[in-house]
Amino acid sequence: REEIELEVRIMPYSADQYLLIARDITQIRKLEKMRKDFVANVSHELRTPLTVIQGYLEILASDPENIAGGLQEKAVKEMSSQSDRMRNLVEQLLSLSRIESQRIDIFEKVVDVPELLHRLQNDAEQLNSEKRHNITFEIAPQKMYGHENELRSAFSNLLSNAIHYTPAGGRIKVSWRAVGQQMEFSVSDNGPGIAADHLPRLTERFYRVDRDRNSRKGGSGLGLAIVKHALERHHCKLSIRSEVDSGSTFSVRVPDNLIVQDQH
Ligand code: ADP
Repeated sequence: REEIELEVRIMPYSADQYLLIARDITQIRKLEKMRKDFVANVSHELRTPLTVIQGYLEILASDPENIAGGLQEKAVKEMSSQSDRMRNLVEQLLSLSRIESQRIDIFEKVVDVPELLHRLQNDAEQLNSEKRHNITFEIAPQKMYGHENELRSAFSNLLSNAIHYTPAGGRIKVSWRAVGQQMEFSVSDNGPGIAADHLPRLTERFYRVDRDRNSRKGGSGLGLAIVKHALERHHCKLSIRSEVDSGSTFSVRVPDNLIVQDQH
């Protein structure tokens, strides 16, 4: 059994008796730690690009005439890529907080998943222009109840991770298909895969398998946290199957009560 933390108070009860009150504060401590870690992570993620930008600004400011011997072009490029990174992080934080704080009725609107996936397919072609993966889509006609932006954000994060982490020329398969009475959305790739010990922590905020290697690629480590929260709101479960060196499959099971039965 897990260790617990107790807060103990002793109070006088009678002339020679005391009352000992023990309160289990394990959960409170855990939440406190999560909050502190979160703030520390956000600060760290924002400080790194800011430090780079500041460094370049100092060089440029100290040498305004010569423009640092041709450094200007590199400085502008680097500063703009670092500010992109910060903007991306802030946007992801906002979207996470929106998902956590807004109440929605997921049965209020119908999401045309096939249409959403066709749009995703168009976007993927642009994202994929450098990597030249072979990306295939299998799209069943079913629609579902839900929040369109959140579902799009979940599905597109899974696809962009596959594109991002799979080395050029990979194979990626996106599918939306019926499994019995339920539907399943899945993205499979033949990329590097993820070792089993990382899998349980993958959807934690800021968790990355290889921090140093991935941080250079501009990821924030928030993508899968957003996916998980958006899906939880839809009572959908994310499962991850992965094998190192052969690839990963992220799949989302949609319960039957969310599927629009009347397809006219
Ligand atoms: P990031 O912004 O770093 O991509 P995510 O939360 O989206 O953050 O993903 C967390 C980590 O999971 C990534 O840093 C990466 O190590 C791993 N990961 C996610 N998707 C894949 C994939 N398709 N193949 C291999 N590793 C992946």
